[in-house]
Amino acid sequence: MSDEQDVVLYEVKDAVAIITMHRPRYNNVQNSKMTYALDDALYRAVDDDEVKVIVLAGHGKHFSAGHDIGTPGRDVDQRFERRHLWYDHSNKPGGEFLYAREQEVYLGMCRRWRDIPKPTIAMVQGACVAGGLMLAWVCDLIVATDDAFFQDPVVKMGIPGVEYFAHCYEMPPRIAKEFLFLGARMSAQRAYELGMVNRVVTRDALRETTMEMAQHIAQMPRLGLQLTKQVINTAEDNMGKRSTMDMAFGYHHFAHVHNEIVSGDKLGGYDGKAMAQANKAQAEQAKKKGQ
Ligand code: ZN
Repeated sequence: MSDEQDVVLYEVKDAVAIITMHRPRYNNVQNSKMTYALDDALYRAVDDDEVKVIVLAGHGKHFSAGHDIGTPGRDVDQRFERRHLWYDHSNKPGGEFLYAREQEVYLGMCRRWRDIPKPTIAMVQGACVAGGLMLAWVCDLIVATDDAFFQDPVVKMGIPGVEYFAHCYEMPPRIAKEFLFLGARMSAQRAYELGMVNRVVTRDALRETTMEMAQHIAQMPRLGLQLTKQVINTAEDNMGKRSTMDMAFGYHHFAHVHNEIVSGDKLGGYDGKAMAQANKAQAEQAKKKGQ
Protein backbone atom coordinates (compact mmCIF):
# COMPACT_ATOMS: atom_id res chain seq x y z
CA MET A 1 0.00 0.00 0.00
CA SER A 2 1.19 3.51 -0.77
CA ASP A 3 2.58 5.67 2.02
CA GLU A 4 1.75 8.88 0.13
CA GLN A 5 -0.19 11.33 2.27
CA ASP A 6 -2.92 13.73 1.21
CA VAL A 7 -3.65 12.29 -2.21
CA VAL A 8 -6.68 14.58 -2.27
CA LEU A 9 -6.77 18.16 -0.95
CA TYR A 10 -9.88 19.93 0.28
CA GLU A 11 -10.64 23.60 0.77
CA VAL A 12 -13.74 25.77 0.90
CA LYS A 13 -13.72 29.31 -0.40
CA ASP A 14 -16.81 31.54 -0.60
CA ALA A 15 -19.38 28.74 -0.86
CA VAL A 16 -17.21 26.74 -3.27
CA ALA A 17 -15.48 23.50 -2.28
CA ILE A 18 -12.30 22.86 -4.23
CA ILE A 19 -11.31 19.22 -4.30
CA THR A 20 -7.84 18.65 -5.72
CA MET A 21 -6.23 15.40 -6.81
CA HIS A 22 -2.75 15.44 -5.38
CA ARG A 23 -0.37 12.89 -6.85
CA PRO A 24 1.47 15.40 -9.07
CA ARG A 25 4.57 13.21 -9.22
CA TYR A 26 2.48 10.61 -11.05
CA ASN A 27 0.33 13.06 -13.06
CA ASN A 28 -2.54 12.42 -10.65
CA VAL A 29 -3.17 8.87 -11.76
CA GLN A 30 -5.92 7.43 -9.60
CA ASN A 31 -5.29 4.53 -7.27
CA SER A 32 -8.04 3.28 -4.96
CA LYS A 33 -6.63 5.36 -2.15
CA MET A 34 -7.32 8.47 -4.23
CA THR A 35 -10.73 7.27 -5.42
CA TYR A 36 -11.93 6.69 -1.87
CA ALA A 37 -10.42 10.00 -0.76
CA LEU A 38 -12.30 11.72 -3.60
CA ASP A 39 -15.49 10.07 -2.43
CA ASP A 40 -14.84 11.27 1.15
CA ALA A 41 -14.19 14.81 -0.08
CA LEU A 42 -17.34 14.87 -2.23
CA TYR A 43 -19.39 13.52 0.65
CA ARG A 44 -18.01 16.27 2.86
CA ALA A 45 -18.84 18.95 0.28
CA VAL A 46 -22.37 17.64 -0.20
CA ASP A 47 -22.88 17.48 3.55
CA ASP A 48 -21.71 21.05 4.19
CA ASP A 49 -24.60 23.52 3.87
CA GLU A 50 -22.11 26.34 3.30
CA VAL A 51 -20.97 24.69 0.08
CA LYS A 52 -23.09 25.48 -2.99
CA VAL A 53 -20.76 24.43 -5.81
CA ILE A 54 -17.95 21.86 -6.06
CA VAL A 55 -14.83 22.26 -8.20
CA LEU A 56 -12.73 19.21 -9.06
CA ALA A 57 -9.09 19.94 -9.89
CA GLY A 58 -5.75 18.24 -10.41
CA HIS A 59 -2.58 19.60 -8.82
CA GLY A 60 0.43 20.22 -11.06
CA LYS A 61 1.03 19.93 -14.76
CA HIS A 62 -1.86 17.58 -15.57
CA PHE A 63 -5.45 17.08 -14.48
CA SER A 64 -5.20 13.28 -14.50
CA ALA A 65 -3.36 10.79 -16.68
CA GLY A 66 -5.89 8.06 -15.83
CA HIS A 67 -6.12 5.09 -13.53
CA ASP A 68 -3.02 3.90 -11.75
CA ILE A 69 -1.67 1.03 -13.83
CA GLY A 70 1.92 1.16 -12.69
CA THR A 71 3.08 3.44 -9.83
CA PRO A 72 4.47 2.12 -6.54
CA GLY A 73 1.15 3.18 -4.98
CA ARG A 74 -0.94 0.93 -7.21
CA ASP A 75 -3.37 -0.81 -4.90
CA VAL A 76 -5.84 -2.82 -7.04
CA ASP A 77 -5.41 -5.85 -4.83
CA GLN A 78 -6.20 -4.00 -1.60
CA ARG A 79 -9.39 -4.23 0.36
CA PHE A 80 -11.22 -0.97 1.11
CA GLU A 81 -14.37 -0.14 3.02
CA ARG A 82 -16.83 -0.06 0.17
CA ARG A 83 -19.37 2.64 -0.68
CA HIS A 84 -21.81 0.41 -2.50
CA LEU A 85 -23.33 -2.96 -1.67
CA TRP A 86 -20.60 -4.73 -3.54
CA TYR A 87 -18.68 -7.51 -1.86
CA ASP A 88 -14.92 -7.28 -1.49
CA HIS A 89 -13.08 -8.09 -4.73
CA SER A 90 -9.61 -8.70 -3.33
CA ASN A 91 -10.05 -12.43 -2.60
CA LYS A 92 -12.14 -13.30 -5.68
CA PRO A 93 -10.98 -15.51 -8.58
CA GLY A 94 -10.90 -15.01 -12.34
CA GLY A 95 -13.01 -12.30 -13.94
CA GLU A 96 -14.90 -11.74 -10.70
CA PHE A 97 -11.90 -9.93 -9.18
CA LEU A 98 -11.83 -7.00 -11.58
CA TYR A 99 -15.57 -7.03 -12.24
CA ALA A 100 -16.40 -6.53 -8.56
CA ARG A 101 -13.65 -3.96 -8.12
CA GLU A 102 -14.63 -1.85 -11.13
CA GLN A 103 -18.34 -2.01 -10.28
CA GLU A 104 -17.41 -0.36 -7.01
CA VAL A 105 -14.56 2.06 -7.75
CA TYR A 106 -15.16 2.98 -11.40
CA LEU A 107 -18.72 2.56 -12.62
CA GLY A 108 -20.34 2.79 -9.19
CA MET A 109 -18.27 5.68 -7.89
CA CYS A 110 -18.55 7.70 -11.12
CA ARG A 111 -22.32 7.32 -11.27
CA ARG A 112 -22.57 8.29 -7.62
CA TRP A 113 -20.51 11.43 -8.25
CA ARG A 114 -22.36 12.35 -11.44
CA ASP A 115 -25.62 12.41 -9.50
CA ILE A 116 -24.51 14.27 -6.38
CA PRO A 117 -27.05 16.98 -5.57
CA LYS A 118 -24.80 20.01 -6.07
CA PRO A 119 -23.33 21.49 -9.24
CA THR A 120 -19.80 20.37 -10.05
CA ILE A 121 -17.16 21.92 -12.32
CA ALA A 122 -14.05 20.13 -13.57
CA MET A 123 -11.02 22.39 -13.92
CA VAL A 124 -8.82 20.66 -16.49
CA GLN A 125 -5.23 21.41 -17.50
CA GLY A 126 -2.80 19.24 -19.49
CA ALA A 127 -3.62 15.55 -19.75
CA CYS A 128 -7.13 14.31 -19.22
CA VAL A 129 -6.66 10.72 -20.28
CA ALA A 130 -8.79 7.56 -19.85
CA GLY A 131 -9.69 7.44 -16.13
CA GLY A 132 -9.14 11.22 -16.13
CA LEU A 133 -11.93 11.57 -18.70
CA MET A 134 -14.29 9.77 -16.36
CA LEU A 135 -13.70 12.37 -13.65
CA ALA A 136 -14.17 15.32 -15.99
CA TRP A 137 -17.26 13.75 -17.55
CA VAL A 138 -19.06 13.18 -14.26
CA CYS A 139 -18.88 16.92 -13.61
CA ASP A 140 -21.69 19.19 -14.78
CA LEU A 141 -19.38 21.73 -16.40
CA ILE A 142 -15.82 21.55 -17.72
CA VAL A 143 -13.39 24.46 -17.93
CA ALA A 144 -10.19 23.55 -19.77
CA THR A 145 -6.90 25.26 -20.52
CA ASP A 146 -5.90 25.81 -24.13
CA ASP A 147 -3.15 23.18 -23.69
CA ALA A 148 -5.47 20.56 -22.23
CA PHE A 149 -6.08 17.40 -24.21
CA PHE A 150 -8.53 14.53 -23.97
CA GLN A 151 -7.76 10.97 -24.93
CA ASP A 152 -9.03 7.43 -24.46
CA PRO A 153 -6.26 5.06 -25.60
CA VAL A 154 -7.82 2.02 -23.92
CA VAL A 155 -8.76 0.38 -27.26
CA LYS A 156 -5.01 -0.31 -27.60
CA MET A 157 -5.56 -2.84 -24.80
CA GLY A 158 -8.35 -4.43 -26.83
CA ILE A 159 -10.92 -2.90 -24.45
CA PRO A 160 -13.85 -0.77 -25.69
CA GLY A 161 -13.00 2.44 -23.83
CA VAL A 162 -12.91 3.37 -20.17
CA GLU A 163 -15.34 1.90 -17.65
CA TYR A 164 -17.64 4.93 -17.52
CA PHE A 165 -18.67 4.78 -21.17
CA ALA A 166 -20.14 8.25 -21.78
CA HIS A 167 -18.29 8.79 -25.07
CA CYS A 168 -21.30 8.98 -27.38
CA TYR A 169 -23.09 11.33 -24.97
CA GLU A 170 -20.08 13.61 -24.72
CA MET A 171 -19.55 13.82 -28.50
CA PRO A 172 -21.41 12.83 -31.66
CA PRO A 173 -21.21 9.05 -32.38
CA ARG A 174 -19.01 9.38 -35.46
CA ILE A 175 -16.54 11.53 -33.54
CA ALA A 176 -16.70 9.06 -30.63
CA LYS A 177 -15.68 6.32 -33.06
CA GLU A 178 -12.76 8.43 -34.31
CA PHE A 179 -11.80 9.26 -30.71
CA LEU A 180 -11.73 5.56 -29.78
CA PHE A 181 -10.51 3.96 -33.03
CA LEU A 182 -7.52 6.32 -33.33
CA GLY A 183 -7.01 6.76 -29.59
CA ALA A 184 -5.46 10.13 -30.42
CA ARG A 185 -5.44 13.32 -28.41
CA MET A 186 -8.35 15.70 -28.81
CA SER A 187 -7.47 19.34 -28.22
CA ALA A 188 -9.43 21.51 -25.80
CA GLN A 189 -10.48 23.66 -28.73
CA ARG A 190 -12.03 20.73 -30.59
CA ALA A 191 -13.67 19.51 -27.40
CA TYR A 192 -15.14 22.99 -27.02
CA GLU A 193 -16.44 22.99 -30.59
CA LEU A 194 -18.14 19.64 -29.96
CA GLY A 195 -19.78 20.91 -26.78
CA MET A 196 -17.78 18.66 -24.45
CA VAL A 197 -16.14 21.63 -22.75
CA ASN A 198 -17.78 24.86 -21.57
CA ARG A 199 -14.83 27.27 -21.64
CA VAL A 200 -11.26 27.23 -22.95
CA VAL A 201 -8.88 29.59 -21.17
CA THR A 202 -5.15 30.08 -20.60
CA ARG A 203 -3.52 28.35 -17.64
CA ASP A 204 -3.23 31.70 -15.89
CA ALA A 205 -6.97 32.26 -16.14
CA LEU A 206 -8.10 28.72 -15.28
CA ARG A 207 -8.78 29.12 -11.60
CA GLU A 208 -10.21 32.62 -11.88
CA THR A 209 -12.62 31.70 -14.69
CA THR A 210 -13.75 28.55 -12.88
CA MET A 211 -14.27 30.40 -9.61
CA GLU A 212 -16.22 33.15 -11.37
CA MET A 213 -18.59 30.57 -12.85
CA ALA A 214 -18.86 28.81 -9.49
CA GLN A 215 -19.62 32.09 -7.69
CA HIS A 216 -22.28 32.94 -10.22
CA ILE A 217 -23.93 29.52 -9.81
CA ALA A 218 -23.64 29.83 -6.02
CA GLN A 219 -26.12 32.74 -6.14
CA MET A 220 -28.85 30.37 -7.33
CA PRO A 221 -31.12 28.51 -4.90
CA ARG A 222 -29.74 25.15 -3.81
CA LEU A 223 -32.90 23.17 -4.51
CA GLY A 224 -33.42 24.82 -7.90
CA LEU A 225 -29.92 23.78 -8.93
CA GLN A 226 -30.41 20.26 -7.67
CA LEU A 227 -33.74 19.80 -9.45
CA THR A 228 -32.35 21.19 -12.70
CA LYS A 229 -29.37 18.87 -12.53
CA GLN A 230 -31.58 15.88 -11.84
CA VAL A 231 -33.84 16.67 -14.80
CA ILE A 232 -30.93 16.97 -17.24
CA ASN A 233 -29.24 13.83 -15.93
CA THR A 234 -32.53 11.97 -16.30
CA ALA A 235 -32.89 13.33 -19.85
CA GLU A 236 -29.48 11.83 -20.68
CA ASP A 237 -30.49 8.51 -19.15
CA ASN A 238 -33.69 8.58 -21.19
CA MET A 239 -31.47 8.97 -24.25
CA GLY A 240 -29.90 5.66 -23.26
CA LYS A 241 -26.82 6.81 -21.37
CA ARG A 242 -27.25 4.48 -18.43
CA SER A 243 -28.16 1.36 -20.39
CA THR A 244 -25.40 2.00 -22.97
CA MET A 245 -22.95 2.26 -20.11
CA ASP A 246 -24.18 -1.01 -18.59
CA MET A 247 -23.75 -2.78 -21.93
CA ALA A 248 -20.29 -1.27 -22.48
CA PHE A 249 -19.26 -2.30 -18.96
CA GLY A 250 -20.17 -5.92 -19.73
CA TYR A 251 -18.07 -5.87 -22.91
CA HIS A 252 -15.29 -4.07 -21.04
CA HIS A 253 -15.07 -7.05 -18.67
CA PHE A 254 -15.37 -9.59 -21.43
CA ALA A 255 -12.26 -7.88 -22.88
CA HIS A 256 -10.39 -7.94 -19.54
CA VAL A 257 -11.06 -11.68 -19.24
CA HIS A 258 -10.25 -12.34 -22.90
CA ASN A 259 -6.90 -10.55 -22.42
CA GLU A 260 -6.18 -12.65 -19.38
CA ILE A 261 -6.89 -15.90 -21.23
CA VAL A 262 -4.95 -14.96 -24.34
CA SER A 263 -1.97 -13.10 -22.91
CA GLY A 264 -2.09 -13.62 -19.14
CA ASP A 265 -2.57 -9.90 -18.58
CA LYS A 266 -5.91 -8.15 -18.04
CA LEU A 267 -4.63 -4.95 -19.67
CA GLY A 268 -3.29 -6.62 -22.79
CA GLY A 269 0.33 -6.13 -21.74
CA TYR A 270 0.17 -2.40 -21.09
CA ASP A 271 1.42 -0.96 -17.83
CA GLY A 272 1.64 2.77 -17.13
CA LYS A 273 5.04 3.15 -18.72
CA ALA A 274 4.23 1.25 -21.91
CA MET A 275 0.98 3.17 -22.38
CA ALA A 276 2.66 6.54 -21.74
CA GLN A 277 5.36 5.68 -24.30
CA ALA A 278 2.81 4.58 -26.90
CA ASN A 279 0.77 7.76 -26.37
CA LYS A 280 3.82 9.98 -26.56
CA ALA A 281 5.03 8.36 -29.78
CA GLN A 282 1.57 8.76 -31.30
CA ALA A 283 1.39 12.46 -30.30
CA GLU A 284 4.86 13.13 -31.75
CA GLN A 285 3.93 11.43 -34.99
CA ALA A 286 0.76 13.52 -35.25
CA LYS A 287 2.75 16.69 -34.55
CA LYS A 288 5.20 15.87 -37.34
CA LYS A 289 2.33 15.45 -39.75
CA GLY A 290 0.90 18.74 -38.54
CA GLN A 291 -2.37 17.23 -37.33
ZN1 ZN B 1 -11.33 -2.00 -16.52
